[in-house]
Amino acid sequence: MLLTPRTRARSRIRSRASRHRAAALLASAVTVCLLAAAAPAEPLGVGDRLFPYLGNPGYDVASYDVSFTYPGSNDKPLQAVTTIDAWTTADLERINLDFAHGTVKSVEVDGRPAEFTSAGEDLVVTPDHPLDEGSWTRITVKHTSEPVPGKDQEGGWVRTNDGLAMANQADAAHLVFPCNDHPSDKAFFTFHVTAPKGYTVVANGLPVGADQVGSKTTWTYRTQHPMATELAQVSIGRSSVLHREGPHGMQVRDVVPSADAKALQPWLDKTPKQIAWLEGKVGPYPFETYGVLMAQADTGFELETQTLSLFEKNLFTQPAYPQWYVESIMVHELSHQWFGDSVSPRTWSDVWLNEGHATWYEALYAEETAHKPMEDRMKAAYANSDRWRAAGGPPALPKAPAPGQKISLFRPNIYDGAALALYALRQEIGKPAFERLERTWVQKHRDSTAGTADFISLASTVAGRDLSGFLKGWLYGEKTPPMPGHPDWKPAASSPKAAKDRPRK
Ligand SMILES: [Zn+2]
Repeated sequence: MLLTPRTRARSRIRSRASRHRAAALLASAVTVCLLAAAAPAEPLGVGDRLFPYLGNPGYDVASYDVSFTYPGSNDKPLQAVTTIDAWTTADLERINLDFAHGTVKSVEVDGRPAEFTSAGEDLVVTPDHPLDEGSWTRITVKHTSEPVPGKDQEGGWVRTNDGLAMANQADAAHLVFPCNDHPSDKAFFTFHVTAPKGYTVVANGLPVGADQVGSKTTWTYRTQHPMATELAQVSIGRSSVLHREGPHGMQVRDVVPSADAKALQPWLDKTPKQIAWLEGKVGPYPFETYGVLMAQADTGFELETQTLSLFEKNLFTQPAYPQWYVESIMVHELSHQWFGDSVSPRTWSDVWLNEGHATWYEALYAEETAHKPMEDRMKAAYANSDRWRAAGGPPALPKAPAPGQKISLFRPNIYDGAALALYALRQEIGKPAFERLERTWVQKHRDSTAGTADFISLASTVAGRDLSGFLKGWLYGEKTPPMPGHPDWKPAASSPKAAKDRPRK
């Protein structure tokens, strides 16, 4: 994710009260009568330090098959069916899914009707027979998917001028469809989206087919690589899909409002070279395709949804920023395809591995193509780093998001603050070892998840010496350690006048 500066000014404090929650409580009360003999359903999680109720124990999702029917209006719910194929990793009397916005109509487990109720942000399913550890199960949920946000809910569907897009980071996929909403459980996805004539639908992965029945078309897309729920993307709009060739014959496709296709062409033409540049740095692009989705929405951020990054169209058509800067933002989201998407964080405390690396390649691209020295940027980051750590925690131990402002997790400590730790590492082990580490990291953990301890371990292996003390200081220290090779770099005084953040992009 990359926050554009205006987001900072926007108050995101919202009421904790929720119509939906009231409805959920009511539903619980009704269902509890039916399950009187059993212990009450409760929300579960996988123990994420920052989002304790995200994800659920006892199963591992292999694939999602999600069908949406878009009514042609952003004010009405989409009708939806989500089918989850999962492998149980424990004996289960109940299956908790994350789902907190929408009406559930029915649930089946292995083809048989199952009881269900809500508990917190979980949909708790009780199959008619307990599930044994080590078995395949198929859970089918008929539900609505609500494009109108709940009062205290942010993320999920993004309502654009001409349809919908998706922005689920960090914890909003379960506002769109029932799922195991944690990046540690990646799975394959198939999307079937039915939309009225005149709309074009694009989702993660490659198209499998488009079936027209009457005035409606059902578009099907499938991922060829596992994906975290937070990286799902479904674009429904009056859009054009523009194809171009990337490096070594790779398919690149962009999704843009049809009316703006010509004007946006010069920006879109930049992507193949950016892919080639990043491949030169870290190795082969990790997925089946890439492209830019330019949405007509004022989100205040850009997002690295897998194979199809989400951008605000206005970033390109009403440039408030210099061209080099917009290009570096394109590279930021592109580099997430390696760092964050192909290698996704094991927990949300590891999100610096996403944002630190994306900021690193964003800055490196600006250095190599626009003469913006990395050293200047890192010196400025060093000056601010102690203050960022005090406000947001050290890079690998970020403070929880503020109540009602979930994307406030995305603070400077995990962007330039984390890129600064990578710079320190490069200073310490030298450029060749650092570049070898980066390449090995994305190769070794491709299509998987990895955490901070894995990075420290690999860095030590590649450098041929134990770097745990060095990196722990940089990643977990309350204070910023001295910068190798730059003994003159000092933290700035913490007076507000000295507190000049770079834009939190
Ligand atoms: Zn980012």
